[in-house]
Amino acid sequence: MDDRELIIIIGCDVDNDYNPKGNRVHENENIWDGITFGIPNLKEIFNSLTQTRDDPYPNLTWLLRSDKQMDMLYNDYAYPVSHFLDMWRSLNKDGDEIGWHPHMWDWDNIRKQWFPHLDEDKWTNECLEAGYKAISKYFKPTSCRTGWNFQSNNIFEKLVELGVKVDLSGLPGQKQILFQNSPTSHLHDWKPTTEEFYFPSKSDYRISSTSKKCLNILEMPLSLTPIPTLQAYAKFVHHNVRHNLNQPFSKPVIAYNFKLTEIMRITKHPKLFKRGVNKKFKDSKIRNSTEYIITYFHPHELLGNGLFSISNFEANLKYISDMSGKYGIPYRFLTATQAAEDYLTQTHQSEIIHD
Ligand SMILES: [Zn+2]
Repeated sequence: MDDRELIIIIGCDVDNDYNPKGNRVHENENIWDGITFGIPNLKEIFNSLTQTRDDPYPNLTWLLRSDKQMDMLYNDYAYPVSHFLDMWRSLNKDGDEIGWHPHMWDWDNIRKQWFPHLDEDKWTNECLEAGYKAISKYFKPTSCRTGWNFQSNNIFEKLVELGVKVDLSGLPGQKQILFQNSPTSHLHDWKPTTEEFYFPSKSDYRISSTSKKCLNILEMPLSLTPIPTLQAYAKFVHHNVRHNLNQPFSKPVIAYNFKLTEIMRITKHPKLFKRGVNKKFKDSKIRNSTEYIITYFHPHELLGNGLFSISNFEANLKYISDMSGKYGIPYRFLTATQAAEDYLTQTHQSEIIHD
């Protein structure tokens, strides 16, 4: 049997374009241009690609903000959901999925700045419970990507309790220490995680365990693309120098680990993205298997012309289509929850979704 196929899941972390200076949004301050202008432009590109090239239509997973920061800015936890509701309803009607992207941003009233509030389970739980309740008035999300890819055993447990079935926060092999905080606290820690999908262990979300000790949520980590050694080294030096310069009074630490891969970003320059695409098609061919690309972007990247842009997005989609033809391997786009269901059926795992 020919199992060769590439499945692509594209998520969008629907964040504001930038953090406002204060903890309230002032009149005339527009921090959502990525949604207003970027998303309609992207839909035009999708329509043109499917019409002129007969490519499959990319259905996306829109991960919407609903959390304490939104409440502080707008007195509405689910402001980006309610304010752009017509757009989300129309996308959803056309087959896109509406998921959730909670950020644990909090306001420091002494320093007058936003900071990641990641070390207090009680605060996190309140943020998640109220955020999920607010978004659920409009949609009931079953997929999630957390802000900064930060995860913890506590958050995973809360997501399961709220009814989330799929998480896309994993960054295989990556760990980064938080700026301006103790060296033991991290912005994310996925050091032992691989690209394999798994049900997270209750005692260590980064890995799996025997089925009884796992949580009933499928982790589908983001996909990796190989990068050249020199580039990997430059990134390693850049991130660590930047981190340690920002903390001049602390002992220097390795804040960012060295790796010869990076996360596949659909809006990033095709030179970097296409290495990953080639690898996935090659793996599928050699292993006679279904392979997955799990990638994401932000709306504000659709407005830029730099390293991340809408034209890169278009070029990367065309490249996937061209390589599919070259390798003779089909591909299709699925949303996060569709892909999880598909994967569990293919691997006969539906039964081990625990209580
Ligand atoms: Zn975000």
